[in-house]
Amino acid sequence: MITAYHDPGFAAPIGDHVMPMRKFQLVAGALAGRAGVRVEAPAPIEVDELLRVHTPAYVEAVRSGEPRALAESQKFPWSPLLWPSVRLTNGGALAAARRALDDGVAAALASGFHHAHAHHGEGFCTFNGLVVAAEALRAAGRALRVAVFDLDLHYGNGTASLCASRPWLFNCSIYGNDYWQNKPYADVETVRHADGGNHVSFALPNGSGRAELFAALERGAAAIRAWGRPDLVLYQAGADPYREDPYSPLALDHDDLRERDRWVFAWAKREALPIAWVLAGGYTRDVSKVVAVHVGTFDAAQSVFG
Ligand SMILES: [Zn+2]
Repeated sequence: MITAYHDPGFAAPIGDHVMPMRKFQLVAGALAGRAGVRVEAPAPIEVDELLRVHTPAYVEAVRSGEPRALAESQKFPWSPLLWPSVRLTNGGALAAARRALDDGVAAALASGFHHAHAHHGEGFCTFNGLVVAAEALRAAGRALRVAVFDLDLHYGNGTASLCASRPWLFNCSIYGNDYWQNKPYADVETVRHADGGNHVSFALPNGSGRAELFAALERGAAAIRAWGRPDLVLYQAGADPYREDPYSPLALDHDDLRERDRWVFAWAKREALPIAWVLAGGYTRDVSKVVAVHVGTFDAAQSVFG
C-alpha cells in the first residue's frame, strides 16, 4: 500500500496562471479508488519547521502579505489564502518523507518547490518543501543524511543554494532547461550551473530521449553513492520534461517518463533507500497529459514496490 498525501487546500486560488494548481486535485481524483494507493490529508507544517530553512522576514512576508514584493517573490499574486495552502503543501512533503521512512515509499501530490531560497521564493516556489521536510526529520533524529534526486525539467537552484550550509544534504539535478529566464530550448550545454561538494547537476542536451536520460540517471546515482549513503531520498518526479511541455526541449514521451520513474524506484529498492516523491512541474496546455505523467509515476512505483 502506497500512501499519497493530498488536501483540497493544496491549491491556492491564484486565478488563471501558468502553474496548473488544479492538477493536484486532478491527480487525487485519478487515484480515487485505485487499489494499492491510499490518499490521506497531511497536517499543515508548523512555523518552526519553516524557520529551520527560511528567514523570519520571508516567512512573515508570506503570512502577512507585507512587504508585498517579498510575499510575491515566487510570482504568485498574494492573498490571505496563500499561507494556509503553502503550510499544507509543505506539510504534505514532510508527511510523505516521514511515511517513506516507515513504509519504504510514499508520495505527496504537491510540488517540491526546488526554486525556493532561504530569503525569498522563485519560479512558483514559496517554501522549499524538500529541505523543510529533510530538516524536520533531521531535527527529529529520523534521517541524518538526505539526498534529493531532482528530475524536474528545470535546474533545482533553490535546493542547491540551501545545500551550501548543509553538508548532510545532497542535491542531484538532472535538467533540460537551465531555469534562468525559463526560456524553452535553453542551451544547457553552454549555460551550466556551478556544482559543489554536495550538489551536482547533469544537463540533458536538446532533443534528448530515453538513452540520454538513462545515462544521466546512472551518473546521478553514482554521484549520490560517491557522496555516501543517505537515510532518505526525496524524488522530484517532474512532468515538465514531457516532449509537449512548452518549456521542454526534450524528446521524452509518456512511456519514457514512466520508465524513468521505474528506474528510480528500482534503484531505491535495490539500494534499500526509503524514497518519497513529489509531483514537481508540468505545464503542458492539455492538463490531462500532465496528470497522465503523474499517474504514470504511481504505475511505476506500484510495479516496483507491489
Ligand atoms: Zn520545472
